[in-house]
Amino acid sequence: MIKTVEQYLESLNDGREVWCLGEKVKDVRTHPTVSTIVRMAAMDYVLPNHPDFRDLFVTKDADGEDINFLLTSPKTPQDMLRRRECYMAGMRTGGGVLVHCMGADALASFSVAAEVMDKKMGTGYTERVENYRRHLQKNDLALTGAITDVKGDRSLHPSQQKQHKDFYLRIVDRQKDGIVVRGAKVHISASPCANELLCLPCRTHGEADKDYALGFAIPVAAKGVKLLGVEPNVRLYGEECEFDYPTSDHLQPSESLIVFDDVFVPWERVFMCGEWQYSQVLAYAFASYHRLFGTCKMTGTLELMTGAASLIAEYNGVQNMPHVRKKLAWMAYITETVQMLAKQACLDPVTEFGMDVMMPNRMAINASKWTYASNFHTMCQHMQDIGGGLTTTVPAFRDWDNPEIKPFIDKYLAAKDGVSTEERLRILRLIKDGTGNHWQVDTIHGEGSMAAQEMFIYGSANWKKFQAAAKRAAHMDGWQDDTTYGKLPLMDQCVQMPPIDETYKSFAPTAKK
Ligand SMILES: Cc1cc2nc3c(=O)[nH]c(=O)nc-3n(C[C@H](O)[C@H](O)[C@H](O)COP(=O)(O)OP(=O)(O)OC[C@H]3O[C@@H](n4cnc5c(N)ncnc54)[C@H](O)[C@@H]3O)c2cc1C
Repeated sequence: MIKTVEQYLESLNDGREVWCLGEKVKDVRTHPTVSTIVRMAAMDYVLPNHPDFRDLFVTKDADGEDINFLLTSPKTPQDMLRRRECYMAGMRTGGGVLVHCMGADALASFSVAAEVMDKKMGTGYTERVENYRRHLQKNDLALTGAITDVKGDRSLHPSQQKQHKDFYLRIVDRQKDGIVVRGAKVHISASPCANELLCLPCRTHGEADKDYALGFAIPVAAKGVKLLGVEPNVRLYGEECEFDYPTSDHLQPSESLIVFDDVFVPWERVFMCGEWQYSQVLAYAFASYHRLFGTCKMTGTLELMTGAASLIAEYNGVQNMPHVRKKLAWMAYITETVQMLAKQACLDPVTEFGMDVMMPNRMAINASKWTYASNFHTMCQHMQDIGGGLTTTVPAFRDWDNPEIKPFIDKYLAAKDGVSTEERLRILRLIKDGTGNHWQVDTIHGEGSMAAQEMFIYGSANWKKFQAAAKRAAHMDGWQDDTTYGKLPLMDQCVQMPPIDETYKSFAPTAKK
């Protein structure tokens, strides 16, 4: 089935245990800040019901019933590309795949590991995963992936931890109908607005760690599951919020620390139980799928950042300054490289476990993720640099909206003719919202912009000395009167060597003209 937004919202009214700022949340849909995460997640149910996106997001199951495409297993490069298109459309919309990304990636990796374990060990996991997949499809459930354990001392394996044995989620009891698990997962995105948690290991295991080799799915509202420390941005509402926080208004932090306080998991929801040799397969498969999502998420963000930098350059009248063009060209290059590498990962997928399920090409997808992660901070720096100090000192909506002071702001914070002050302020607020804190911009623009320092540095650099160094090394005249290089002794004037043995004809020096 394909749920409506209303049906999805109703499904969250299930008695889940969520804590925010020290208080128990009565209902995630009506809480002042947690509801903003839910609103973002509800976009997952807008797109499949939208006439322009239905064909992309909706496919049929074996019974001919409509289901969400992201809940199917990718079997061809075209499936991988379509998955990527869904992720990109969602992220460009602003949060439209929040509860179908980590969870869908975890589901895909369960299929990979199940098939490998069934082949090598004769387990029956594939059937269980497929039954569970059908349950998700038939009920159009929202899901997320809980992979990262709290980990304690990172230098120790799970079973070697000193203070207690629950730093990694583990099996504490095997019963007739299922298992009991204990531990905690941390930073789990979308957890307050998901129906289901798909849990898998975040590292490889040795035999001593076999109780930690654990994969399963559990409803968020299951007994003993506690979502702690959810802290979405505390925000203003309405127009004020849209003006001051244009992106973080809808792209809210949704992470929580999830405690599994002796949670019972029935066997039909257990997809790995002690097969420590295959934790690696599961963890690596998840990483490959999820990096594909990450690159799509980032493409939307990088497009926005590059666009904001180019708009503010235009609004400030600096778009043709050579150093600004160079920065904009670099931003466009990073943005396009990330998305092209991710596309390549889909076009050239891997089937290395000998199955019919495909995974993104490992080199291409990791190169894509690495490209954005290692260049992201420079992207922020360029936005802040091009935008100027106003990227942090830009007035807020309440100032702009006050008729007594608005005319002054309007007059003095205008820039290029033909661009309204409001447009300029909105883009500046977007940059401020996206690049974070005051001190970052203060570091760049306080005491003058970086281009101003470059100008002074250029002006005060001892070019004569640098050129003398180069000329001397290139055996050209013009360095002799330099105060540093002119004084230095020349090797061939100071060191007298015996004459060259001219029987080495090919090495004989060319006669001086
Ligand atoms: C906003 C956000 C959302 C996230 N969403 C999710 C989610 O939905 N689901 C999920 O499962 N996870 C999620 N994560 C978790 C993310 O995958 C982890 O933060 C990441 O894997 C790093 O783990 P860590 O935070 O425990 O840091 P650490 O593991 O403590 O890493 C800190 C540093 O220590 C190094 N280090 C740690 N252990 C070792 C070691 N054994 N050998 C060498 N170096 C080591 C690391 O390389 C790194 O440099 C999210 C994280 C963030 C920030």
